[in-house]
Amino acid sequence: MITKLVVFRHVYYAVLGYRAFCTMVIMNKDYVNTLKELTASNVYIKDKTKVNEIINELAKAGINKLQVILDFDRTVTKQHVNGVRQYSSFGIFEKCPSLPASYLSAVTHLNEKYMPIEFNPLVPRAEKKKHMEDWWRLSEETLIGLTVSQTEIDEVVKEIQPPLRDGCPEFFSSITKENVPILIFSAGLGQTVVSVLKYHGILNEKVKVVANFLKYDENGVIQGFRDNIIINVFNKNESVLRGTEYYERIKDRTNAIVVGDSLGDASMFDCVAHKASVLKIGFLYDHVSDIYFVKIVTTLEKNIGQFKYLLPI
Ligand SMILES: [Mg+2]
Repeated sequence: MITKLVVFRHVYYAVLGYRAFCTMVIMNKDYVNTLKELTASNVYIKDKTKVNEIINELAKAGINKLQVILDFDRTVTKQHVNGVRQYSSFGIFEKCPSLPASYLSAVTHLNEKYMPIEFNPLVPRAEKKKHMEDWWRLSEETLIGLTVSQTEIDEVVKEIQPPLRDGCPEFFSSITKENVPILIFSAGLGQTVVSVLKYHGILNEKVKVVANFLKYDENGVIQGFRDNIIINVFNKNESVLRGTEYYERIKDRTNAIVVGDSLGDASMFDCVAHKASVLKIGFLYDHVSDIYFVKIVTTLEKNIGQFKYLLPI
């Protein structure tokens, strides 16, 4: 075998030269043009060379360097089913029967005020950030004093049966089998996120949920959110994770596949001090931006199989 390789090397040098030989040895695989999942008609890749480089870097570094970071609402869960928009984690919580009408009207009022600001591209970033912080803080205030329990949330989840994106269970199973950690990083409601993952049987010790978890007192009364940090679309990045036990555990995993459905999700792994290879994938429907390297665009007609696109990567 070694003799054959030496002979081949000499022949190659003679015909094409040393430089060409080296180029061939380090040549990247052409994933973007050969994986059929990446050449599907609803997959848009802005810079194929760059994406190919990243996938090659991920492959070369191997699974021990990889982590997966997923947004939850409308990334792990579906955006639409038969044209009907699906509930977010807070939306599921709002279906809890013990909630007073005053809570629901306060939430509706906040949503009507702040949602248009969140999606208005003309509002400057600093101003928008301030509005989002106000929104989340006021939302927290509306929760204080309520007594909605985890059991009640679980019952609502069972009733609604929030659908996961097609291919999601297979993706979780395949990734965690390889001991690659999955971080669900959500500005949504932690208790609902956990409940939905458990309902579908995809929460295990390899899956960590970082979200806004309700804090209860000993009588089951909600005191606000845990940890004095409210995750919103503008701080949904490594700054929230730094210093946590999870962060210490995965800090050597310098490469990541990041999947989201909105602008803020693309920054979930952006604050790293070290050089990392990050493949950003957007399941886009409402807000088709150009910041993702790979955009898998969801339409009402093509709402299937998105996580399956990721398996070969
Ligand atoms: Mg989302």
